[in-house]
Amino acid sequence: MPRTHTRLQDRSRSAERAGKRRLYTGEPLNLARRELAGQQDGQPLIPAAIAGQAALETAALLRWGRCGYSRWGEGLFERAERQAVYPPFGFRFVTPRPESLTVDVDPEMLAGFIARVLPSIDPGDAEVHGVPGLRARVHDRYVLVHRLGQDGMIRVAASAAQWERAVALVQSGAAGTTFPWRTSPSAWTGEEKSCAASFGWLWDMGREGNQLVSGLLRRCHALNGPDITQFWHVWRSDNQHLILEWEGGVTHQTVLDRLLDPEGGLAITAPSRPCRCEVPQPLVRAGAGALVREDTCFTVHVSAPGVRGISLRRLLPWEE
Ligand SMILES: [Zn+2]
Repeated sequence: MPRTHTRLQDRSRSAERAGKRRLYTGEPLNLARRELAGQQDGQPLIPAAIAGQAALETAALLRWGRCGYSRWGEGLFERAERQAVYPPFGFRFVTPRPESLTVDVDPEMLAGFIARVLPSIDPGDAEVHGVPGLRARVHDRYVLVHRLGQDGMIRVAASAAQWERAVALVQSGAAGTTFPWRTSPSAWTGEEKSCAASFGWLWDMGREGNQLVSGLLRRCHALNGPDITQFWHVWRSDNQHLILEWEGGVTHQTVLDRLLDPEGGLAITAPSRPCRCEVPQPLVRAGAGALVREDTCFTVHVSAPGVRGISLRRLLPWEE
């Protein structure tokens, strides 16, 4: 019965695709399967963003890229005591579509996300932090974040109650700070306009560069693995150069294998110098007498369209 045979093949193929998508997005399997089923034939495993969407994701990720992996206001010691583990950039999963991106932010990191990504204006010098023009529309079970008058949408998977609790935390320690997304929900403020005109270029990497940053964000779970990762950070160094850094967790090779995968990966070029993370390193005695593994890898450089390069930096996991 060739028809049954084909149906079985289709089913196992779609289960395989959903499993693979989950590796990049962190989505629950049933969600990954639903998203893929709703796609048109021939769509890539991880859809690319349209230009305005990629620009919004870049503006947001470059501000959030060095996020703190902790609860709002928590000290380093407290954080270490709790041995809390967070997903890449605090996103438990992302759901990429051409004209939107859903991010499921870990509730403990939500206040930090609001503080860094949504705009706020300092009382003294009128300096704008966060993405100018960004506004939030709170619904019962999710919050839509968009730039007034521009394309693109980030859907934060948080309930209205979770969102308002996080907002209260952010506002409680910020006497005198103005939050334009609260005070001026439907128009850019003068401060935001002048900030965007003077410094907007800092957070915009051009069409191809934005595609790349968006592509990384849409695949951020490719940076995750079974071993504990202390943090992941991404930032733009001089001009068109991206640094992606993490401590512990997956090796360069694992990340490269995923990012170079023809079905789920990005249009990047394999590094000319191979990774040596997985070559066993001898223990050496460091200055204070502690035994550490000698670092012979640290950074792997890849080239990518639209930027001068990406440096994948892996800091060695803390060891006793
Ligand atoms: Zn390596």
